[in-house]
Amino acid sequence: MALHAEWLEKMGFRRVGLHATEYVLARSRGAEVHEDMAKIADDLYSLGLVKIYEIGAKPLMIGALGLKGLHDLYKSDPEISLAGMSWLIEAKNWHAYAGTSSGVGIIDLERDLIECNCKACSAKFPNQIAENPDDIAWHDWVMLKEYAEKGKLDEIPVYDMILEKDDCLAVVGDLHIGVPQSLWLPCLRRLMEIHPTHLVLLGDVFDFVEGKPKASHIISFLDFLKDLGARMRYVSGCSDSNAPEFLKTLRRFTFARGPWEPQLYSPHPILVEAIRILTMLRRFSKKRIKVKLANWKVVRFSHGHELGLPMDANPKEMMKKLLENKDLSEIRVIGHCHRSLYRPEEGGARVQRPLSEYTLFFSR
Ligand SMILES: [Zn+2]
Ligand SMILES: [Zn+2]
Repeated sequence: MALHAEWLEKMGFRRVGLHATEYVLARSRGAEVHEDMAKIADDLYSLGLVKIYEIGAKPLMIGALGLKGLHDLYKSDPEISLAGMSWLIEAKNWHAYAGTSSGVGIIDLERDLIECNCKACSAKFPNQIAENPDDIAWHDWVMLKEYAEKGKLDEIPVYDMILEKDDCLAVVGDLHIGVPQSLWLPCLRRLMEIHPTHLVLLGDVFDFVEGKPKASHIISFLDFLKDLGARMRYVSGCSDSNAPEFLKTLRRFTFARGPWEPQLYSPHPILVEAIRILTMLRRFSKKRIKVKLANWKVVRFSHGHELGLPMDANPKEMMKKLLENKDLSEIRVIGHCHRSLYRPEEGGARVQRPLSEYTLFFSR
């Protein structure tokens, strides 16, 4: 390093690049870096800086344009120059920089949507930002500059879905595919007529506890979703998230013809496909989701079993429990119980279980 510094000085360089990636990574909180390695990264970085200043040059930090350690580096010397492509690489991976409740962080736009008013996003719909890595890159760049200057970022609201003016959201609860009384087919046919742009499956789509969903039904259900072409979110319920019963169903498909060797080498394609769909849906599901309607109201969906009320709880008691600690502008919607209830003026609704009759709740 001394030799390099000597020659850089002789050649008259006024700005010297220093690769800071390892240093930044080692110092970022939550990074799994061995303490000794972090110390080495720290020492090398400090030594490099000392040498740069010794020859009267200014540093150019390479690999420093990500959220990690940015503010400290930027503030450490007003004449420091920062370079790097982290912001662009993150954007290509659908990651958006944002303020969070605990500081700054990354929002995965493959899953969530942000409502951002920054210089890069203000003229675009949230769905648009999340569809184009170039737009995310611009947003990340704006956030990065703001973070370098202010040392903090405003918290950005995050939603699972955001509806625009002409969108239509359908909510379907408790299809209970797998029990003989389930009216999932007529319900899906009705959905085809409505043709919503967005769909929330409000839990208990399948019933692994009291029912035995058929592999062919699972596949037709997914085919139907594909044909419907709506953006979909899946809220996990009580009868479709029960782990032992879920595993029992997978086992039923895996060993449909017994634990025999021929089946091991040539499994039944329909059963394999059903297992794949169930596993994917389970991974995709969330306990609760937040949707912003076109009228700016925010709806929080959950299955409802988490409220711990009996299935036949009276509506008053249920409403009280449902609306506990609710924001004024928020509407809460659950499924699960047998009695339906629709009181948007109070801020709550319950979707009826489509066993004896099915109910769809849909809204713009
Ligand atoms: Zn933005
Ligand atoms: Zn339930």
